[in-house]
Amino acid sequence: MSKRLIFFGPPGAGKGTQAQRLAESAQIPHISTGDILREAVAQGTELGQQAQSFMDSGQLVPDNLLIDLVRERIQQPDTTEGWILDGFPRTVAQAAFLDQLLAELQQTPITILNLEVPDVVLVERLLQRKRKDDTEKTIRRRLAVYHEQTAPVVDFYQEHNLHAIDGDRSPEEVAQAIDAVISV
Ligand code: AMP
Repeated sequence: MSKRLIFFGPPGAGKGTQAQRLAESAQIPHISTGDILREAVAQGTELGQQAQSFMDSGQLVPDNLLIDLVRERIQQPDTTEGWILDGFPRTVAQAAFLDQLLAELQQTPITILNLEVPDVVLVERLLQRKRKDDTEKTIRRRLAVYHEQTAPVVDFYQEHNLHAIDGDRSPEEVAQAIDAVISV
């Protein structure tokens, strides 16, 4: 199995939890674009200032900012053994960019894990999380944005190594399902 993994799925699907666990056990970096952007906002960097209003309102940060961010991060020295992307790509344009970048860097093949969870469960989970952008209005916006702009990315990856994982289970059960898929 390649140790280049994309955790895909709606907000609240458990991508962060599962990606972090796997990154620790496989000793590869967990690259969460949401975490990187929140850190940029906290530091008040130019990227943070450009991203903040989009994040606060539950919209996607513009593709060009994410593309620059990922191009730089994925070429850091800690990525040679592999990486886990969490929260990227979120648009078809981001997926097309990543495809081209990884081909250029000869970082193929990749494995995509699609965590599937029904919307009603996601809303409940996100309301419990109490992050700044986890108010009910913003949650509903983020889910709508997911269905409109992010879900079509699945079609883009249909010909790749795409695995659907039922994410509507306990974190332990989801972890087992993921391990079963990636150890084949
Ligand atoms: P997350 O932590 O993955 O839920 O991301 C939090 C917020 O960061 C999202 O609601 C977006 O505003 C922004 N964000 C994170 N990743 C991306 C991405 N790949 N494309 C656009 N916006 C993103």
